[in-house]
Amino acid sequence: MAIQLLPEELVTRIAAGEVVERPASVVKEMVENAIDAGARSIRVDCVEGGRRVIRVADDGSGIPAEEVELAFAHHATSKLRSADDLSQIVTLGFRGEALASIAAVSVVTCVTRHRDEESGALLRIDNGKIVAREPIGRPPGTTMTVEHLFAKVPARLKFLKSIQTERAHIDGLLTRYALAYPHIQFTLTHDGRRSFQSLGNGNLRDVLLEVYGATAVEKMIPIGTEANEPDRPTQAIGSISVRGYAALPEYDHANRSKIVLFVNGRPVQDAKLTYAVIQAYHTLLMTGRYPLAVILIELPPADVDVNVHPAKAEVRFRDPDAVFSAVQRAVRRALLAALPVPEPPSVLVDQRLSLNTALETGAAAGNREIDRAGLGPRQSPLSGAETWERVGIARHIPSPVTSASEATANLPFHSIHPQLPALRILGQLAATYIIAEGPEGLYLIDQHAAHERVLYERLWTARELGQVAAQHLLDPVAVDVPAESARLLEAELEVLQELGFQIEPFGGNTFLVRTVPAVMAQDDIAAALREIIADLEMGDAPLQRDLEARVLRRICKRMSIKAGQVLAYPEMAALVRDLEACESPRTCPHGRPTMIQIGLSQLEREFGRTA
Ligand code: ADP
Ligand code: MG
Repeated sequence: MAIQLLPEELVTRIAAGEVVERPASVVKEMVENAIDAGARSIRVDCVEGGRRVIRVADDGSGIPAEEVELAFAHHATSKLRSADDLSQIVTLGFRGEALASIAAVSVVTCVTRHRDEESGALLRIDNGKIVAREPIGRPPGTTMTVEHLFAKVPARLKFLKSIQTERAHIDGLLTRYALAYPHIQFTLTHDGRRSFQSLGNGNLRDVLLEVYGATAVEKMIPIGTEANEPDRPTQAIGSISVRGYAALPEYDHANRSKIVLFVNGRPVQDAKLTYAVIQAYHTLLMTGRYPLAVILIELPPADVDVNVHPAKAEVRFRDPDAVFSAVQRAVRRALLAALPVPEPPSVLVDQRLSLNTALETGAAAGNREIDRAGLGPRQSPLSGAETWERVGIARHIPSPVTSASEATANLPFHSIHPQLPALRILGQLAATYIIAEGPEGLYLIDQHAAHERVLYERLWTARELGQVAAQHLLDPVAVDVPAESARLLEAELEVLQELGFQIEPFGGNTFLVRTVPAVMAQDDIAAALREIIADLEMGDAPLQRDLEARVLRRICKRMSIKAGQVLAYPEMAALVRDLEACESPRTCPHGRPTMIQIGLSQLEREFGRTA
C-alpha cells in the first residue's frame, strides 16, 4: 500500500483511543473536569455499566455560553497558557483533549451555565458532528451526558468487558476520587440504583467508612498529618507531605489492589510507591499478603511531571527516592506507634511460629522444647479428639467432613490407582515437614501443602456430587465489603451457595452470612469472605467452574494445617494416609509440590557409596 495521509475523522478516532479506553475513562475525565471547575457536589449516573449512558453533573463554575463549542475542540483548555505552566500544573486536566476525544466516539450532550451568566447553553455532538445548539436554563454548573460510547468504533466496542466489569471499574474510580476529595460529595448510581455516596464533609475517615465499611476502618490507623492535631504543623518530610490511612497488619489482603495512591490529588499507579507501602510492613505481614492503604502525597507541582501518560495515570518525580522513603517512613512510623510491643515468641504458645523464627528471634535453642532435628515425634499439647479435629482428619469422630470423605472413598480411582506407596512416618522437621520412608527412599512432605491437597479433593468431590456440607452459624455474621466489591459478590451468591455459603444482601454494602461450608465452622468468617472476594476479583469474569475452584482453594488454604504447627504422630499418620488416597497427591491445589523425594540411589551417590 502506498503511504497516504489518514482522513481527519480517522485520525481523531485513533487519538481518542489513547484517552478513552472504556466507560470508566469517560467518567474519569468528566469527574476531573468537575473537580477542576470547583464543584462541591458531583453526581455520576450510569446505565449498563456506562456503555449506554454516562451522565456527570456538577455544581462547578460552568462553561461560558460562547466557549462551549471551543471546549470540545482539540487542544482547547482554560487551564494552561504557556510552556512554563506545563511544569507547574495544579489542575487535573491540562491537555484540552478529553472532551474532543470523547465527543469523537459517542453522542455527547453538554448542558452548562457559567456562574456569572444569566442563562445556559445546550450543545449536542454526535460522533464529532454538532447536531444541536440552543440556549437553556439551569442552575450554575455542568451536566455532560455521554451516550452510545464506541457505537461507531466496533474495534473498541469489541474490547469492552461485561457490564459488570465496566461497572466495577467505574465504582473503583469514583471511590478513589471520593477518598482524594473528602470535601466534595460524590454520588454514583447504576441503572437507577445508588451504589455509592460520600458525605462531602471534608473528613477522610467518613469517606473510608463509605468505601471500605466499618469493619475495615476500625482496623485502619491515620498516617502523617492525619495523625496529628489539626492545628499542629504538617508532618512534611522535606517538602513532601504524606498522609492517609493504613490498615493494621491483621487486616491484610491477597493482592496489591487495595493500596491506593494519590499524588497532588491525582490517583496514580506507581509500582515503586506501592512497594514503598509494602516495605513499611516489612516482617509485619506474611509473605504473599498485602496491606490496605490510602496514601495521599503532596509535593510542589514543579517536582512532579504529570504529563507522561495518555490517561495521566502515571507521574514522574524529580526525586523519586525522596518520595519513596517519605512514604515508607510515614507508614512505618504510624504502624510501629500503633502496634503493641511484641512478646517474645514461644513455640509452645504460638504454634504458627516455625522453629527457624523461634531461633532467629533470639530464643536460646537449649531451653526450647524442640528437638532440633525434629526426629522423634513430640506429643502435641492438644489431645485426643481435639487434635484430630484440628487436623481436620476426622475418621472416627463424627464431623461434617466425614460425609465428603466417605463420598470420596466410594470413587474407584483410590483403590485401583494408588498414586503413592505406603509411607512410614519417621518424624517432623521444623514443625513444617513430615519425614517419611517409602520403598524408594526418603520423603519430605510439606504438611500445609499436603493437607491443602487432601481437603481440596474432598471438597471438590463433594461439590461434584452436590453434597458440600454446610454449617449453620448460630449467629449470622454481618460482613461489610468495599462498595466496589459488593456488586461482584452479589453476582456470585448462587455460586457460593453451591459451595455451602448462604449469604444474603443486608442493605448497602453489608452481607449476612448464614451458613458456611462445614469445614470452615471454626474460621474467622469475615476475614475468609474478604479473601474469597479478593479471589473473585482477580481477572475478568472467568468460567463458573474456575470461580468455584478458586473459592475451594481459598477455603483449603485457610483451613489446612499451617507450617510451624507441631503435629503428633497419629496426626501425621492420618494426614499421610489421606494424601496417599488422593488422585494427585504430589502437588497442592495451587500447583506447588507437596513433597520432595530423595531416592536411595541418590543417597548412595551423595554418601559416596557407589564405586
Ligand atoms: P482539559 O481538562 O485538559 O482542559 P477537557 O477537554 O477535559 O480539557 O476540557 C476542555 C475545557 O472545557 C476545560 O479546560 C474547561 O475549561 C472546560 N470544561 C470541561 N468540563 C467542564 C466542567 N464540568 N465545568 C467547567 N468547565 C469545564
Ligand atoms: Mg479535562
